[in-house]
Amino acid sequence: MTNWITIITFIYPHEAHIAKGVLESEGIDVFIKDEMTAQVNNFYSTAIGGVKLLVNEEQRERALQILEEAGYIKTPEDSAEPESKEFFGVKYSHTCPYCNSQNVMKERQPSYTMILSILFFMIPIPFLRRRYHCFDCDQNWRVRK
Ligand SMILES: [Zn+2]
Repeated sequence: MTNWITIITFIYPHEAHIAKGVLESEGIDVFIKDEMTAQVNNFYSTAIGGVKLLVNEEQRERALQILEEAGYIKTPEDSAEPESKEFFGVKYSHTCPYCNSQNVMKERQPSYTMILSILFFMIPIPFLRRRYHCFDCDQNWRVRK
């Protein structure tokens, strides 16, 4: 039986549809949830957690990788994770400091934050250091260059 899990949430349905198209073009099965509620009232959308994009559990990692490459923001669950350990050296941007795997991914900061900070304060807020993730041992870390 297929286990559908939420991998990313959008405020507006059209954003979810664009991301769905990106994933489907890579052969990922995608399911959109809570779309109707969001279309009725966009203010409701944030209240119920937005428009959810669901994928098959087995395709989760591939789907997240595609979203990362496409520049989409991280899921709220991921950004709520505890502070990651920091490693010194540029090589840890490509190699996992825990298991030496090269199956690592750089996580981007939410682009919304950047846009909002420019709109409201006229200057970009200094952002957190980039965080990295290893798909082999599932560890997260930061890199100080
Ligand atoms: Zn690793």
